[in-house]
Amino acid sequence: MRANGTVFSFKSGDKGPLSGDVLLIPLVAKPQPPLELVARVDKLCNDTVSELLTVKALREEVGHLCHTTHSGPCPRIVLVSLGDAEKLNANEIRTAAAAAARWLATERLTTATLWIDGLTATEVEQSVAEWALGMALGGFRFLAHKEPDEKVPARIQILLRAREPGQVDRVLPEVRNAALLADAVNYARSLAHEPANVINPGTLADRARELARAAKLKCTVLTAPQLKKLGMNGLLMVGQGAAHASCLIQLEYHGAPRAQNTTVLVGKAITFDTGGYSIKPAAGLEGLKFDKCGGAAVLGILKAAAALKLKCNLVGLVAAAENAISDTAYRPGDIIHMMSGKTVEVVSTDAEGRLILADALWYAQEKLKPTVLIDVATLTGGVGVALGTVAAGVLSNDDGLAGDLGEAGRRTHERLWRLPLWDDYRELIKSTEADLKNVSGKREAHCIVGGIFLKEFIRAGTPWAHLDIAAVAHLENGKGPTGKGATGFGVRLLVEFLRQRGA
Ligand SMILES: [Zn+2]
Repeated sequence: MRANGTVFSFKSGDKGPLSGDVLLIPLVAKPQPPLELVARVDKLCNDTVSELLTVKALREEVGHLCHTTHSGPCPRIVLVSLGDAEKLNANEIRTAAAAAARWLATERLTTATLWIDGLTATEVEQSVAEWALGMALGGFRFLAHKEPDEKVPARIQILLRAREPGQVDRVLPEVRNAALLADAVNYARSLAHEPANVINPGTLADRARELARAAKLKCTVLTAPQLKKLGMNGLLMVGQGAAHASCLIQLEYHGAPRAQNTTVLVGKAITFDTGGYSIKPAAGLEGLKFDKCGGAAVLGILKAAAALKLKCNLVGLVAAAENAISDTAYRPGDIIHMMSGKTVEVVSTDAEGRLILADALWYAQEKLKPTVLIDVATLTGGVGVALGTVAAGVLSNDDGLAGDLGEAGRRTHERLWRLPLWDDYRELIKSTEADLKNVSGKREAHCIVGGIFLKEFIRAGTPWAHLDIAAVAHLENGKGPTGKGATGFGVRLLVEFLRQRGA
């Protein structure tokens, strides 16, 4: 089974002679590789490292590889550039590791010894775990529907080696945790890539049930008749044109049974977004299968929480619908009676995400008593206009929450930038025939208007944040460890947030 490309496994290679197809040596390149480290690693491979450095083979660019052969037990020696020591951070370590991972897979090698001293000598915390994470993210490819190239290894074993006795055993637990985290991120990425003929609201619920069984989570799925009874007409109407009706998936993880706190995460999963009657242009339409990335991230976070045994109580809600065009589809001009009691005039059927989220957020507050409520959604093109693909937008009614999310974003390099939710924006969604309308119909402040709309469904006193990941959930030219395609944005960020906040 190699649906997700190449998997990396990590174990100690500290005892006995050097082994494996290749010796991987991460080193900072600037101002120069530390002489003491070079002397140390030279002893393992007959001075080949200093020979490579003498001919200036190692460049400053992070993830640049240079290699030579060697007559010893590891026939290939590869230096991996960690770039400039001054600028080095965890993301650059992950990026370098991902480059090494892709090279190993391309070269069809199945075992490598990783000399970790070049990592542990840096200032970066948990540098070996960050490296492991980068390799695992870099090895991902979506191959669920493609005959794999038999020669590309499904699994590559990495043997960790250090000079100091005990060093490898010290880092192995955090390396294993990094591998579990990467597994959850790759799960979310794989789910995001599944096309709409495979993943619809019903089959997404099946995937959630499978995950719940494997990870020992509680799973409840509310189907259309139950949604009807609850008055979740926003979620229902968005999906009413599709062959597969909307549903609300609920996954629960109780990692701090004695604590009263519950974090509720709400994910947008539009399994395919045609735009409805406010139809999208044909170019790039195939990419609208990625409109479920928020929901996929929430499932990934629940998977990670269980695997890492996080000490927190967590509920994941995934609002799932397909925004189709048919004789039963909802129309521009329709007025929806939402679960909260508010009415919404549909000006654009393509602003459907906020309609399904509004009901899910209300449901969360009615039924789950969240101490923190966070939604993750590919909500607006406007967020990309504002921030490009460098950061996601965060909009929040709580400064502490926004600050903690921002800090988790800095630590994981899933960066967030806060946009305001000032009342001045409220008039952009005033409607003459309903309590509010779902878009402003103007070009200004698109991303903020999405947040302002959702805020209408947040009760005073509920700390809430909205993450608009529309521009970062999948990338055409990804330079970081995840490269091109789905990034799993939000999984690492929110796992870090939960770790920092604790129960
Ligand atoms: Zn849409």
